[in-house]
Amino acid sequence: MESHDIPVRNVCVIGAGYVGGPTAAVLALHNPMVKVTVLDRDPKRIASWESNHLPIHEPGLAEVVRLTRDGANSVTSVEPESDGIDAAARQGNLFFSVDSPTCIGHADLIFLAVNTPTKYSGRGAGSASDLSALESAVRDIAKFAKNGTVIVEKSTVPCGTARLISNILLSVRPEESFPILSNPEFLAEGSAIKNLLHPDRVLIGSTPSVAGRLAARRLAALYASWIPGDRILHTNVWSSELSKLVANAMLAQRISSINSISALCERTGADVREIAKAVGTDDRIGAKFLKAGLGFGGSCFRKDISSLVYIAESLNLPDVAAYWRAVLNINEYQRQRFTDMIVSRLSNTLNGKKIALLGFAYKKDTGDTRESLAVDVIASLLEERPTEIAIFDPCCPKDGIEREIAHLDGAKDRVKIYSDPYLATSGSSALAILTEWDFFKADRPLPVLRKMPPKAEPQAQATTAAEAPLRDFTPPVLPACPDGC
Ligand code: NAD
Repeated sequence: MESHDIPVRNVCVIGAGYVGGPTAAVLALHNPMVKVTVLDRDPKRIASWESNHLPIHEPGLAEVVRLTRDGANSVTSVEPESDGIDAAARQGNLFFSVDSPTCIGHADLIFLAVNTPTKYSGRGAGSASDLSALESAVRDIAKFAKNGTVIVEKSTVPCGTARLISNILLSVRPEESFPILSNPEFLAEGSAIKNLLHPDRVLIGSTPSVAGRLAARRLAALYASWIPGDRILHTNVWSSELSKLVANAMLAQRISSINSISALCERTGADVREIAKAVGTDDRIGAKFLKAGLGFGGSCFRKDISSLVYIAESLNLPDVAAYWRAVLNINEYQRQRFTDMIVSRLSNTLNGKKIALLGFAYKKDTGDTRESLAVDVIASLLEERPTEIAIFDPCCPKDGIEREIAHLDGAKDRVKIYSDPYLATSGSSALAILTEWDFFKADRPLPVLRKMPPKAEPQAQATTAAEAPLRDFTPPVLPACPDGC
């Protein structure tokens, strides 16, 4: 049997986060004969993955984890998405651990799914990626991995990172060989399981060596258990690394494009929603990512465009850097316009007023608060010294919100986090919807007016990115907070 025919039997995923956890679970689901272990240096996170309260909320994730982790024993139902899986015969093949020597030492293939945040924050400027978590994981691999283990970059990394990994490994184990692949993750939070089960494409980048190509085939064989062959794309390793940054940059660019048009609309009487429809029905353009709003937040878009700008700057391509920097600038401009609008509609002062903010997660269907635009909105509003900023989010954990706003001047005295939307909005002078949770939508009940004190003055005004009108809504039944929230 040639080495590329040797199937992978033992996979280690380093990083039990939003990418590592769901990726490992779906990989385990479709490769029941493969042992998949998720390794993290945070014992609390690992304990949480081993419990019934997963550390992250993703629709469908709990079912896949229960089935793959606990086997048939604890399964009552399997998501329709997982049809074709023989749940009854299932043995657990998904494990969680903090034991680096064992997990790394036993692995045939290791995914690096650690965080790669922005190194320093420069809004609108290019920022390098902080690769310290990745470097530390690679140093563990250099210590414990067996010769020939395939190393896969799953984290989003700057173009050229495979060389960096290779140099670290070579410096510690000069006589041995570790093929390095790039296999960036394109899942979106809130639909991670759906995206992993039915990806548009899986990208595998390898070096043009024989070892590189063989390693790519071994990785592709794991995906082939559920993904059609024509969706598995093979490229060189640098194209693969850069493709991920470009994909996020282009998605963010569409958001900035339509947001820039929304500013034009407000001055001309045009309606940005009508424009988005008119433009988006053109097949060449398409309708997705054309919704004007507050802008993009989250741990990926800003970080990845900053990284792209940084790469262009460091390669002395100032016009390319300026082009992508504009996407960040419009995002910042849109958020500032939004808060200016709130202040101007309240007679240019927030003094003595309560402002209610519905939603804190950076997008709907996730409890992720990292780099949420809500933080920027709160920072701007605090400068106007309102009496209170009330926050309600149906899913974000209170400590997650507190952590994100702890550094803001005045947050301790003026920001209050509510678990009841009625209390949060009661008596507020303005109500801003920051996250597009379904039950905040204008055609669904908004949890405000019925419970507002009848003579609450001044009346709440709805200010949403999409300018959703308030109506006399029936109070909604709020969804139970899902696992992990
Ligand atoms: P995360 O912060 O949720 O998880 C990273 C985990 O890695 C943490 O639990 C951390 O404790 C662990 N870790 C860090 N260094 C470690 C080490 N040396 N050894 C063991 N564990 C270590 O991050 P995430 O959101 O899952 O993102 C991971 C990567 O995937 C990033 O590069 C990100 O840009 C990329 N990505 C994220 C998304 C997303 O939607 N979150 C989507 C696509 C790609």
